[in-house]
Parts: sequence; C-alpha cells; structure tokens
Amino acid sequence: MTTTLKDTRPTPKPGVLDIAAYVPGKESAPGVAKVYKLSSNETPLGASKHATEAYHAASARLEIYPDGQATQLKQAIAEVHGLNADNLLCGNGSDELLGLLCQTYLSPGDEAVYTEHGFMVYKIYIMAAGATPVVAREKNEQAEVDAILAAVTPRTKIVFLANPNNPTGTYIPFEEVRRLHAGLPKNVLLVLDAAYAEYVRRNDYEAGVELVSSFENVVMTRTFSKIHGLAALRIGWMFAPAHVIDAVNRIRGPFNLNSAAIAAGAAAIRDRAHVDKAVAFNDTWLPWLTEQLSALGLRVTPSVGNFLLVHFPDDAAKSADKADVYLTGRGYILRRVAGYGFPNALRLTIGSEEANRGVVAALSEFLK
Ligand SMILES: *Cc1c(COP(=O)(O)O)cnc(C)c1O
Repeated sequence: MTTTLKDTRPTPKPGVLDIAAYVPGKESAPGVAKVYKLSSNETPLGASKHATEAYHAASARLEIYPDGQATQLKQAIAEVHGLNADNLLCGNGSDELLGLLCQTYLSPGDEAVYTEHGFMVYKIYIMAAGATPVVAREKNEQAEVDAILAAVTPRTKIVFLANPNNPTGTYIPFEEVRRLHAGLPKNVLLVLDAAYAEYVRRNDYEAGVELVSSFENVVMTRTFSKIHGLAALRIGWMFAPAHVIDAVNRIRGPFNLNSAAIAAGAAAIRDRAHVDKAVAFNDTWLPWLTEQLSALGLRVTPSVGNFLLVHFPDDAAKSADKADVYLTGRGYILRRVAGYGFPNALRLTIGSEEANRGVVAALSEFLK
C-alpha cells in the first residue's frame, strides 16, 4: 500500500479546503498618523453610553458563566421590537446564526441559494456544512426574485437574501420579498438577513417580521454590529418560528454570548435616542456622499444602507486598486470588493463628517 499525505496527518473533511477564508476589511494604513476606517460598515457614532456602562459593569463578575439563554437581551429585543421572546435566539454575531442555520438544515448534496453580489459569509457556511452553494444572478446590482426562484431545485434547502444587500446597498421592496416567499416550496427556509434594516428609510421596505410571524419557513437575522455600534462584542439575533428556534438551540454552543455582550446589547437596543441619532446622521451623509462622488464622475450604486459601492473609471490609472492605494496612503481605508464580483469598485462606509469630507477631497485629488 502506498502512503499518502492522508495517512500521515489528520485531513479536514471533504470540501473544507475548497473554502476561501473570509478576508475582513483592512484596519490600518502603515505610516499614516490619522486613520479613518471606512471598510467594515461600523458606525461613526460609536456605541450608546448606556451600553458602554453596562459593559464595564459586567467586569465585576467575570468568574460567573453567562446566562446561556441571554434572557435579559432577548427580553430587551422583544420589548423594543414588539416580538415574542420565545421566537428569538441570540448569536455571537449574526454570522454565528447564519452558520448555525446551515449546520441545522444543510447536508452534503443539498443546495443553498444566494445572489450574485450577496454577502460572502453565506457561501462559507454553506460549504462548511458540506452543501453546494448556488448563485442567482442579479440585475442592476439588485437581487432579482425571478432569478432566485429559477435557481431553486428539489435539492434546495435554504435561500439567503441580504436585504439591503452588502456590498451593493440595494434592497428589494417587501412586495418582492413576499413574491419570493410565495414562489418557494414550503420545505425551503428563507433567511432574510436584515443587518442594515434600521438605516432603511423607504416606505416599501420591511425587514421581515410579518413574514416570519405568518409562515413556518422564514427567518429574519439582525445584528448589533452596525447601527448599535457593538461590532467588537459580536451580537446578533434571529426571529424565527418556534420549530426553527428549537432545532438551532440543540446545536449551538451553550454559552454562545458572553455576559458583557448580553448586558451591553440590552442597554444598546433600549437607547432609542442613540439609534435615532445614527439614522439621522446617515440620512444627512449618505445623500451628501452620493452627490459629491457622483459629481466627481464616479458611478455610485444607489444605497439605503450606511455604505456606498463606488465604481471607478475604465482608465487603468484611475482604477479601484489605484484609488485604494492612494486613499490608504492618506489614511482613508475603504473595502476592496473584487471577491464580490466588483473588481473595479470600492465600498465606502459613511464615516464621521471629517472622514466624509476628507475622503471626497482625496478622491477629487486622485481623479485630477
Ligand atoms: C455586517 C453584516 C452582518 C453582521 O454580521 P455580525 O456577525 O452580526 O457582525 C450580517 N449580514 C450582512 C449582510 C452584513 O453586512
């Protein structure tokens, strides 16, 4: 018998080494004194003061295990959003919940669908579960219900829809989400990833509460990483039918949220004034940046989130890669999105006033 590498050391299960590891947004610009991190859609307003206080208070009892049910946090979410706490499950970031849903519902041979420029994390978790990722094309950088439905086969078990989507910032109206759901077989789980829901100011948008409440095959995931400014603490939640909560509960880590996250998250979601402030801030600067960048001749995908997808000219000297190097040298860190199918675009998070004005000035210089 010949000895192969397989016999000499442990090997990952099939598929794992086919997964391309997630590349997070950069956070430093070597040699630059002042850095504006505009690469991961974090809020320029920071966390609520109440959340920071709750975080510090949690430090007094670090020897005690956290509440494995995150009761205090679920109660706060339930109150603020008018939901039944029994239909909530919290995760170490919504990323964890997306992964748990894949582990719960996908087996090798199964398929899960997401859209062409959809959030990359879906593909990672689908493959980690041994299932097959299926990509539905988009139209004008927007999810297309007919294309998603056309991608569904008898093997499909999950459809992921980021609404609004990252990195495009586009959304589909609730009527379209409803039409998507209506076209899916009852055994397919529709996962509505509403990470940016709080930022959306459109009458025809809904995050998905009503669909989850009405059907057995819809889940909505949310996060504390974006508008609540708690990305460092890793807190997400999902609103789901009881049978989904029950199934996912069986495989999650028993203490998947830490005590500081539970306390700070509860305080953050109750601080409605802070959320309102963040929405108002975004309402000012999202249109301002969209106009300013468009005026520079850059195409900007219309966004309802706290970030913009900025497309660069065909001119090789003015490419997204060149712009990235130029901006990084001046302390403005944006996100490359080639992995999302946009080799000549950068994603820009709405930052502080100083960052926003600065990045426009720097881009204006770059394009001269
Ligand atoms: C940022 C983001 C999340 C949130 O991830 P967390 O794990 O909660 O930090 C989820 N979905 C999308 C589309 C996002 O952009």
